[in-house]
Amino acid sequence: MALFGGIEAGGTKFVCAVGTGPDDIRAEIRFPTGAPEASIGQAIAFFKEQSQQEGLASVGVACFGPLDPDLRSPRFGYVTTTPKPLWAHTDFVGPLRQALGVPIGFDTDVNGAALGEQRWGAAQGVDSFVYLTIGTGLGGGCMVNGKLLHGLMHPEMGHMLIPHNWDADPYAGFCPYHGDCWEGLAAGPAIEGRWQTPGSQLPVDHPAWELEAHYLALGLVNIICTLSPQRIIMGGGVMDQRHLFALVHNHVYTMLNGYIQMREILENMDRYIVPPGLGNRAGVLGAIALAEQAVNHG
Ligand code: ZN
Repeated sequence: MALFGGIEAGGTKFVCAVGTGPDDIRAEIRFPTGAPEASIGQAIAFFKEQSQQEGLASVGVACFGPLDPDLRSPRFGYVTTTPKPLWAHTDFVGPLRQALGVPIGFDTDVNGAALGEQRWGAAQGVDSFVYLTIGTGLGGGCMVNGKLLHGLMHPEMGHMLIPHNWDADPYAGFCPYHGDCWEGLAAGPAIEGRWQTPGSQLPVDHPAWELEAHYLALGLVNIICTLSPQRIIMGGGVMDQRHLFALVHNHVYTMLNGYIQMREILENMDRYIVPPGLGNRAGVLGAIALAEQAVNHG
């Protein structure tokens, strides 16, 4: 069986793995995200060493963005306008392809995680769904009719604008571009900024959680009405607070107000908006799934 390489390239750390799926990871390393040349070089060295015994069929990269995932674009494989120091306009795929000589799959971290969840996790058997991560940032990947959605660039769901009642919540939001966009109001740093305490230290009956569920539900309702997903998977550090799911279900149900008469919404919300089946492995396994896809799609 062919082996695949995967890189989960995050803003703070890289996770590189070799294997074929969740039950077959042969080797894995993680290291802090440094300058592009050093980090990509470290990944290449790992894959070269790992492929000495058994060759790699391909490598997948699930990367922070914005990036260019368009195979027809001259900038395919680049991290583009990221505010992350040193990484703007970095060719990620080129050096990998040159050093390893195998097909390279490349997509956003959340699109990668979506693909991994469809392959092995909570989206098996559905072809239109959304994967969200709510952690230090808020991002969403999307599969529509069996294909990862790119379109103009790729979805940036975290930056949708949602209602913000300044009287009820005077916190201004932390997004450097928009202030109180969805990410600015609902990602982990917003919880900490608003309450002066990290979410992980807030008790489950703290009012932070009802407000958090309210904001998450506003974005989710927009996503449900726009993309008509068959399922929504919510991962990331904030969603490790599992009590949030029931609150989110209630807020989504209330906000939709009976408009969408589907069993998933009316009766089975706990199977409609769910945690990742792959847990905190969704990222790196998503990268492996992108590698698999790169081979199958040539
Ligand atoms: Zn924003």
